[in-house]
Amino acid sequence: MDKVKVATVWLDGCSGCHMSFLDMDERLLDIAGRIELVHSPLVDAKEFPEGVDVTLVEGAVSSEEDLHKIRIVRERTRILVALGDCAVNSNVPAMRNQFRRVDILQRAYVDTATDPRCIPDKVVPPLLAHAVPVHQVVKVDLFVPGCPPHADYIFEIVSALLDGRPVEDIPVRSFG
Ligand code: SF4
Repeated sequence: MDKVKVATVWLDGCSGCHMSFLDMDERLLDIAGRIELVHSPLVDAKEFPEGVDVTLVEGAVSSEEDLHKIRIVRERTRILVALGDCAVNSNVPAMRNQFRRVDILQRAYVDTATDPRCIPDKVVPPLLAHAVPVHQVVKVDLFVPGCPPHADYIFEIVSALLDGRPVEDIPVRSFG
């Protein structure tokens, strides 16, 4: 039987949701035997592949690069999971939404910088006007809240998806 193709994606987040994923500890071995991890910050694949069964997305959509990436991910994924509060409701990245982009960049790259003190026009992807949750730009199939979601909760969700069981009845408040 073919393994389930799974990917994880890191947008505007702190990596805490990926750390929580790794906190499944020895249960990762069970999961690893059932999946093919085809793309992730945890592996070295550069291009997001076609035909992914499940993608877990950490982080809000905050930059033009995030937006481009999540659209490709959506096109190539059957079940898209918003993993953690930044993906679900934009959470911490949305704290900057009350400020103008120019003021944020000025603060980060000039006022509080040492050398060089200039707003970059290369390498750093341009910010969107606001950091937004994933479902605001593409369809999301499943929301997994938490900051970060508890590893036990992630395990239950991933196990249910791999088993083809319904996930709606898994209560988030039972974990952590
Ligand atoms: Fe980090 Fe929390 Fe956002 Fe996850 S939800 S990326 S742990 S701030």
